[in-house]
Amino acid sequence: MNSVYFDNASSTPVDKEVLKEMEPLWRENFGNPLSLHSFGQNAKKVLENSRKIVADFLGAESQEIVFTSGATESSNLAINGVINGIKSASGLITPRGEIKNDGLLTNNDGGHKHKKSHVVTLKIEHHSVMRPCEELVKTGMAEVTYLSVEKDGVLDVEKFRKAIQKNTRLVSIMAVNNEIGTIQPIKEIGAIIAQENSQRSEDERIYFHTDMAQAYSLNYKAKDLNIDLASFSGHKFYGPKGSGVLYVRKGTPLVPVNYGGMQENGMRPGTQNIPAIVGIAKAIEILNEDDVQKVKKLQSILIDKTLSEISGSCLNGSREKRVYNNINFSFSGVEGESLVLKLDKQGFAVSTGSACAVGMTEVSHVLTDIGLSPQQARSSIRITLGKQNIEDEVNAFVEALKDSVNQLRSIAGYHV
Ligand code: PMP
Repeated sequence: MNSVYFDNASSTPVDKEVLKEMEPLWRENFGNPLSLHSFGQNAKKVLENSRKIVADFLGAESQEIVFTSGATESSNLAINGVINGIKSASGLITPRGEIKNDGLLTNNDGGHKHKKSHVVTLKIEHHSVMRPCEELVKTGMAEVTYLSVEKDGVLDVEKFRKAIQKNTRLVSIMAVNNEIGTIQPIKEIGAIIAQENSQRSEDERIYFHTDMAQAYSLNYKAKDLNIDLASFSGHKFYGPKGSGVLYVRKGTPLVPVNYGGMQENGMRPGTQNIPAIVGIAKAIEILNEDDVQKVKKLQSILIDKTLSEISGSCLNGSREKRVYNNINFSFSGVEGESLVLKLDKQGFAVSTGSACAVGMTEVSHVLTDIGLSPQQARSSIRITLGKQNIEDEVNAFVEALKDSVNQLRSIAGYHV
């Protein structure tokens, strides 16, 4: 029996239409877009056409789109690039990246000292945002406030408002959490930042980055959200792995992380991966609301059936403020990893949370932040549906889940 794939937040199969679009870019139209000959010019045409598709999707301008290898690279570039960009603009770091005065700058006008930049982010961010923030602290480049979300997995905007300080220069708050699928109030956060910025001078402005790796279905437009930077990964929505985007609003003081070429406006040097870029653009072009609604129905069936038919089951994170394809359950008395392996034997691929966190010994930082005990967090699995899934698979899955949970509870001598 072929396995049923319910781990679409980790990665999705490449759509056939995407593959078809990428095919000629390997051997026919393989030129380097910087070359002057016709091969180069054809590649450049394809590159700029893809950039326009992505820009239209975000209601942005082509020059605001930087192609990367994925959301991890995009978020690292956004966070390091802005903090370095702000500091080099104010003269705090030397051109070779050395920090002067331990992060404190003395103004020419009489010794007034600016504090180092302050960053606000969430405790439930993906590691591709958390780790660069931790590095900023270690290297003395910034101080960081990590906000907790509420029990439903959603940030309280008043808590965010109170976290803003005079020296806050960067906010990085994810649009959708990858483990529990909760949708964060980024529109409200953007509005608060815009209001705050209206009272600040340009050199004290707060920049807003959001990780949208799991938010591609929400039809967000950059301007409506008041964001300055946003990260995407193509393989989360039927595009190829190694394809990504960083949206950078015009005027954002971003400096590159790597050097060595003028590609992507100098923000991401190196010859562009044209097949991947064409792939992510095509994947964006074929995103459609019918698929989202179809998956949403399956999500609803799966949640209802599980909660009513399996005692001791609990849905983690808000049911309403949740993206269309994510389900995260805890089952009392069950070990999540054993359940994933048991379900795999029965032909269903699910996960215990973020694939990127597999192998880490600590329990999920997301589930503990919403108030689960380490034991409850360890009894959780994540099911993420895709457009290829059908209702029969969902029904068969709930039966397999029931069996597996019962078996594991009986082995552990656990009674609900
Ligand atoms: N952010 C979020 C919310 C994600 O879910 C992921 C993928 N798990 C990433 C960032 C990183 O994406 P990639 O591994 O494609 O760089």
